[in-house]
Amino acid sequence: MSLVMPEPDQAVLGRRDAIVAALQAIVPGEGVISDPDALRPYESDALTAYRQPPMVVVLPERVEQVAAILAWCHGEGVKVVPRGSGTSLSGGALPLADGVLLGMSRFNRILDIDYADRIVVAQPGVTNLAITRAVEEAGFYYAPDPSSQIACSIGGNVAENSGGVHCLKYGLTTNNVLGVELVTMEGEVLRLGGRQLDPAGLDLLGVIVGSEGLLGVVTEVTVRILPRPETARAVLLGFPSVESAGQCVADVIAEGIIPAGMELMDRAAVHAAEAFVQVGYPLDVEALLIVELDGPAAECDHLIEAVAAIARANGAGTARVSRDEAERLAFWAGRKAAFPAMGSLAPDYLCMDGTIPRRRLPEVLRRMQQLSDAHGLAVVNVFHAGDGNLHPLILFDTNQPGQLETAEAFGNDILRLCVEVGGVLTGEHGVGVEKRDLMPAMFGEVDLAHQQRVKCAFDPMLLLNPGKVFPTLHRCAELGRMHVHHGQLPHPDLPRF
Ligand SMILES: Cc1cc2nc3c(=O)[nH]c(=O)nc-3n(C[C@H](O)[C@H](O)[C@H](O)COP(=O)(O)OP(=O)(O)OC[C@H]3O[C@@H](n4cnc5c(N)ncnc54)[C@H](O)[C@@H]3O)c2cc1C
Repeated sequence: MSLVMPEPDQAVLGRRDAIVAALQAIVPGEGVISDPDALRPYESDALTAYRQPPMVVVLPERVEQVAAILAWCHGEGVKVVPRGSGTSLSGGALPLADGVLLGMSRFNRILDIDYADRIVVAQPGVTNLAITRAVEEAGFYYAPDPSSQIACSIGGNVAENSGGVHCLKYGLTTNNVLGVELVTMEGEVLRLGGRQLDPAGLDLLGVIVGSEGLLGVVTEVTVRILPRPETARAVLLGFPSVESAGQCVADVIAEGIIPAGMELMDRAAVHAAEAFVQVGYPLDVEALLIVELDGPAAECDHLIEAVAAIARANGAGTARVSRDEAERLAFWAGRKAAFPAMGSLAPDYLCMDGTIPRRRLPEVLRRMQQLSDAHGLAVVNVFHAGDGNLHPLILFDTNQPGQLETAEAFGNDILRLCVEVGGVLTGEHGVGVEKRDLMPAMFGEVDLAHQQRVKCAFDPMLLLNPGKVFPTLHRCAELGRMHVHHGQLPHPDLPRF
């Protein structure tokens, strides 16, 4: 792979034993991993094309330990990469050869459930699904539901501003997190936000959500929980082409209907998912939309009718409404199994993540097929259509010389296409290392400089997760002196809202 990461600091590597000893003094017992074989499981996240064993792993379990580790590393000029469950698809948790990997998996307790305030306070290593599991008996749930929710941590969700099927109606992580406790690289413990929406002061919580482990380490998260809707029903809509399904999505939203979820799978994805989990998807369609409506039963019935009519007008031949809760869950089980099901189509896949204006869906899907022909690699589409959040899965075989590079070039072309039509480089998987070098396609020099000034405010020595997100990391002192032309216009491709 062609990824360029910062050169390892030989002086730091030379002090490895002393660094391990210092970490062991802060986290005694089993909390420090330094044996090279034991470091292997940490060498990548879910973007497995990039691998790098860390210098050492430390697994604290108390905020005081996190603060002490960060303060010590700051004092000694040692880099730190935070890690939750390691399911990032953009390489955000990729370790550094000369860095400490700070694993948050031991922060795995739910600290408070308050039904009156409708909040859960959780440690960052708690999995996304565990939050819903903790409150479901009382009729509540946590709305953002990444397909990885059984494994990914709520701290990782905050860092990536993760989304999921139900974010179309209920918002992404940023719309569902009320507060965090955060430790800065200098070891200061901050509390941002709280137990209610919209606290006083600058919205630093908004800055932290989606900051990809570059600004601080999250040690506690307060999320809002929602009461389960009275009814939820899903409908499977089969289309003769991907474009007609894409047009249906645009028409549903234009009609003022906001489904709880609206997901698109193309023919290859439908067949792979059905073979994997056998949920009864129709196999004679070119594209399948799964649309979920929720709310009072009468409203659901009415909206399902309205959506089915729009689908018919776009050529849909199949419309199957879930008859009960088990069938609704089965409809979603196929969608959630779509990524793992790709294993039956190709040895490897790259999962891209870009967002486009919904009305451009048919055109972008058509142009993606042209790119697929030009690069000679198949692409499978499974994505959050309602949000315009694409997840093209590029199929390839690492063992075939050059295919990985072709897949990467194809992926970059797709993301440039997203920006060209007025979209953005990432919907929910973050920038990480995967899209780092594409940032200038979206942001001008001034934009990037200002974003890095925020990084400098939290981490002036650039020790926290360097090499991610920013294509070039300027030293903070240099950044302050950077001369920017007055009145320089934003990048011409920047979307205007
Ligand atoms: C099969 C599969 C399906 C997926 N589906 C979705 C999906 O539907 N929607 C979606 O949004 N994502 C999805 N993802 C991506 C991934 O699960 C999310 O990005 C998730 O939020 C990562 O959480 P994690 O705990 O695994 O974080 P990690 O991978 O460990 O880390 C991700 C980033 O967060 C930072 N980080 C982690 N913990 C902390 C912390 N406590 N403090 C500060 N920074 C921290 C890391 O430094 C890194 O930059 C999927 C991944 C897979 C493998």
